[in-house]
Amino acid sequence: MKLTKLIFGLIVFNLVFVTSLYCQTTKKIKIIKDFTERPVNYDSLEKIYPTRHIDERFRNVFLVVRQYFPELTNNTIDLKFKCNSSRTISAKPRVNFFRGKSVRKYFIVIKSGSDDYVLENELNAQIGLIGHEFSHLADYSSKTNLSLMIFGIRYGLSKQFRIKTERNTDIEVIRRGLGWQLKSLHLYLKSSEIDEKMKEFGY
Ligand SMILES: [Zn+2]
Repeated sequence: MKLTKLIFGLIVFNLVFVTSLYCQTTKKIKIIKDFTERPVNYDSLEKIYPTRHIDERFRNVFLVVRQYFPELTNNTIDLKFKCNSSRTISAKPRVNFFRGKSVRKYFIVIKSGSDDYVLENELNAQIGLIGHEFSHLADYSSKTNLSLMIFGIRYGLSKQFRIKTERNTDIEVIRRGLGWQLKSLHLYLKSSEIDEKMKEFGY
C-alpha cells in the first residue's frame, strides 16, 4: 500500500515538474518593437503594480517594464532622486537581515538633476534603460542578503567583474523581450551583439 502511494506520488511529482519545465521553456516572450505604436492600458497595469511613490514622469515606463520581471511583482520598487549618488542611474536593494528576499525593497536611484538623462530619450529607449536597471534587480532578487553584500564588494573592487555584470545584465534584458528597446539606447553591448542575442532568443 505504502509502495503504491510512493509510486503514485512520484508520478504526480514528475508530471508537475515536467509540465512546469515545459511551460517555462515554451512560454512565448512578449516582444514589442515599438511601444509608441502600441496602446498600453496603464491604468490596469497600475492595479497590479502600484506606483504611488513613483514620480509621475516615470510612471508609464515603470509600468511597462514591470511586466517583464514577474519575479519582482510582490516587491516594492521605488524611484529615488539622490544628490550624492555617484552614478547617474543605478539599481539598489535595501538589505535587511531581519527580512527575507521575497519581501526585500528595491530602489532605482537617479542622481538629482539627471532626470533628463532618462527623460530626453524617446519612450523605447527609456524602457530599455529602466529595463536594464530592473534586470539588475531581478538578479539581486535571486541572491541572499549575504551574497548581495559579497556581490557589492566585488562590483566595487573589480572592473572586470563590473563589465561582465553589466554585459550579462543587458543580455538578460534581451532575453526578457526588450531587445529592441535596448538597441535604441546602447548601454554595454554593441548593436551587432544585441542583434546576435536577439536572434539567439528567437526574435
Ligand atoms: Zn547596469
